[in-house]
Formats: sequence, structure tokens, C-alpha cells
Amino acid sequence: MAEKTVDIGNREDSRAALWPNYSPPQGLVFIQGKGSELFTEDGEAYLDFLSGIAVTSFGHSHPHLVAALTNQAEKLWHLSNVHRIPSAEELARRLAANSFADNVFFANSGTEAIEAGIKAIRGYHATRGNADRNRIIGFTDSFHGRTIAALGAAGNQSHMQSFVTGDYGFDQVPWEDMDELKSIIGPQTAGIILEPIQGEGGIRLVNQTFLQEVRELCDKNGLLLMFDEVQCGIGRSGHLFAYEAFGVYPDVMALAKGLGGGFPIGVCLTTQAVGESMVVGSHGSTFGGNPLAATVGNAVLDLVLEDGLLDSVKAKGQILSQCIEDLIAKHSDKIESVHGLGLMMGIKCKIPNTDLLVQLRENKLLIGKSGSNMIRLLPPLNISQEHIEQAISILDAVLSNY
Ligand code: PLP
Repeated sequence: MAEKTVDIGNREDSRAALWPNYSPPQGLVFIQGKGSELFTEDGEAYLDFLSGIAVTSFGHSHPHLVAALTNQAEKLWHLSNVHRIPSAEELARRLAANSFADNVFFANSGTEAIEAGIKAIRGYHATRGNADRNRIIGFTDSFHGRTIAALGAAGNQSHMQSFVTGDYGFDQVPWEDMDELKSIIGPQTAGIILEPIQGEGGIRLVNQTFLQEVRELCDKNGLLLMFDEVQCGIGRSGHLFAYEAFGVYPDVMALAKGLGGGFPIGVCLTTQAVGESMVVGSHGSTFGGNPLAATVGNAVLDLVLEDGLLDSVKAKGQILSQCIEDLIAKHSDKIESVHGLGLMMGIKCKIPNTDLLVQLRENKLLIGKSGSNMIRLLPPLNISQEHIEQAISILDAVLSNY
């Protein structure tokens, strides 16, 4: 064994064997979750308005999800796609039946779903004899994940750093700049990728007219339109898919986060014409769509598709947004505007968002931050009225004392 540069046995910091690429608050460790709350070893409860960054869509330990996962765990964990996986076939059928899509590919994360979509866009053109048509246009302030191609698609220098060499076949256009978009489309352009509601870059809904024009531009130029609904999909917006709010359909779409409710899953959804170009050997994943992930995905869909759930997300979103408007009126020197749709909400701050995040956490409310100096509220889709009120009263108190 190679000689170690650190004495592993004597490390005092239990995080020392991890890459230092994350910086969680040192003294805070959660050991249990129930519904919208997380609990420390000492039994202290924190209200979870981050949901593992839009992942635990029905809170922690939802009985339907726990039952689905544990039942499946006792039967069969993994096969690989060398064999048929009935639960994955069923999840694919249900996703297609409820969306624009005809077929899907299963992966394990958002960024892998994005990668699959990028390949499918290029595969579509290549199978039509246009392999040179491989450039994809992305927009500024986007986030599509951390793999090399996903970094290239978003083109955010602070994430690309020195990891991405060359442009990897992506062009960037300023968000909603139609003139620039039109001028950059060339004979090599294969498609366009965007988040209908930007998450990491600042909770920002795409302009409906702009999106409609992007669709028309794609149709006119034979381009494929890809939506990244990794964060805004699966009920988060109050629609099953955020694109429904804009009435514009993609050809390719990436999903992840909320679909697994905490179990890793990613999906790339495609129209028949795009999906059929991904023939045997063109793409794959050892774990993608494994029986555990697919079973949990089906169980999450059971809950999202339950009668009235999406309406209640819309209603709770409106309540939350109204409460935030009231806070803005009261604390107009500290917060200035509310953004978002359904239960994907951002509050633009006048004070540093990181300060607010830390103070809210000290007061037992967990939230996220986002670009444009925003804080991000992503409560579970089944959040109770009582917990909305509790979160608002913590926000109010923290803003008053700031
Ligand atoms: N796309 C969007 C819109 C995201 O918000 C994220 C993650 O935050 C990703 C892609 C990447 O997903 P993952 O972290 O699961 O790879």
C-alpha cells in the first residue's frame, strides 16, 4: 500500500476523509427526519424548507415511500439493464402517459439525465446523416449539473473553472435575448437547452412569449428543444411539469430530484423521433432504473398524481407568496421581492442572503440560497398550513432582529 500523507487513524475531524468541496455547518448533524422536520441527536427539531434541495418532495419518511422501498428491498435490489425491470417499464409508461414524451432513459442523477439528453439531441441529428449538427445553445445563469458537458451547457465560469477545456460544443446566449439567440443559430446548431424556471441562478420563470418564440425558432430551423426540469419538475411548480404552466412543449426533458423523493434517480424523456435514435449500445447506465429507484419513483408518482395534490401545491404556493409579500411590506429595508411558482419560491434580499440563511438556521428554519442574492424556499409538496405559518413567523422574527 502506498504511504499515506496523513495519519488517517488519528484524524480528529471526522470529515477529513472527504473532499473539502462542501462546507456543511460543523456542529449540526441530523439523524432523523419526519415529514417536514429534521431532528438532531439531541432531539432538536428543524423545519425543513430546503427538502435536500427540492428532493424530499413528500418530506422525510413518508409511509407510502418507506413501504414501497422496504417491500422492494426484501425482494430484489438490482439487476442492471441486461435484464428487464418491470417497475422501470411501468415508471416509463406512466411518465410518458403524463407528459409530452413517448419514451425515456433512466439515470441516477440530474446531471446524468442532462448528459443523456445532450447525447440524444446529437444522436437524433447523427442518425439523419447530420453528425456535424452537434452544437447546443444554453443560456446564462443556468445550472445543469457538474459533469463536464453539463458545465459546458450552462457555461458558468465560476463552476467551469479550469475543469472544462474548450467549449464542448456549446454556445451561450444571455437569458431571454432573442436577437442574440437568432444570430448564433448556424448550420451546426442541433438544439437549445433551458430551465423553464431557473433554480440555482435565481428563481426565475422564463417569459412565456420568449419560450413560445424559442419553440417556433426550433421548429423553423429543425432544432430540438430540451427543458431541464431537474429542479422545477414533478409537482414543484403546482403542475406535474413546469412547462405546462407556459403551454410550450419540449422534445427532450431531464428530470431527477423530486421524482425519487430522496432516492437517487434521473430520467431523460424524449419524443419518439428523438428516443428511437438511441439504439442498442448508444448509451447506458449500470444502475439507471434499478428496481429500488424505479419502485420509489412509482410511489412518488402515486402521491403527486393523487387527486387534488397539484391544486393544493398551487394554493399553498399562493398562501406562502402572500405571506412573503406581507413580510416584504414590513421589512422592505431587508427583503425586496418574491419570485417563483407553486412551492418553488425565491426571496430577493437587500441584506446578504448568506447572513439570512445562517440566522434562519440558528432559529431552526432550513432554507437554501440562490443566485441574485436570493434565499430559496423549497418545502415539501405536502407541507402543512401550520408549518407554513411557523416558517413565516421565524422569518419575521429573524428579519426583525437583523
Ligand atoms: N439541473 C438543475 C436545474 C439542477 O437544479 C440540478 C441540481 O441542482 C442539476 C441539473 C444537477 O442535478 P444533480 O445534482 O442531481 O446532478
